[in-house]
Amino acid sequence: MLLESPPWQERAACRGPIAKVFFPPDHPEPRSARDAREARAKAICRACPVRQPCLDYALSIRERHGVWGGTSESERLRLIERSDRSGPTDLTDLTQRLSAR
Ligand code: SF4
Repeated sequence: MLLESPPWQERAACRGPIAKVFFPPDHPEPRSARDAREARAKAICRACPVRQPCLDYALSIRERHGVWGGTSESERLRLIERSDRSGPTDLTDLTQRLSAR
């Protein structure tokens, strides 16, 4: 996944075999299966102690794949698009509101 892991990943709730839930399979995935997989991953994120740094990291590198910090690929794309329109201050506010869900 990463060449050099950020320190917060040591405390990630998605370490180990469960990590596969966070990324799409290497074969076509029906929408219902994707929704179920992402919901399962997001439930793990909600209890993760490093959710905010994870989300910040994914946004900072514009990670395109998988669930990071409780957000799906499309949700992060929307956050980035909003940030591009309104500036980085707004991004912080958006990520905080998202983490509160
Ligand atoms: S917030 Fe989610 S994706 Fe990020 S480290 Fe925690 S469990 Fe993994």
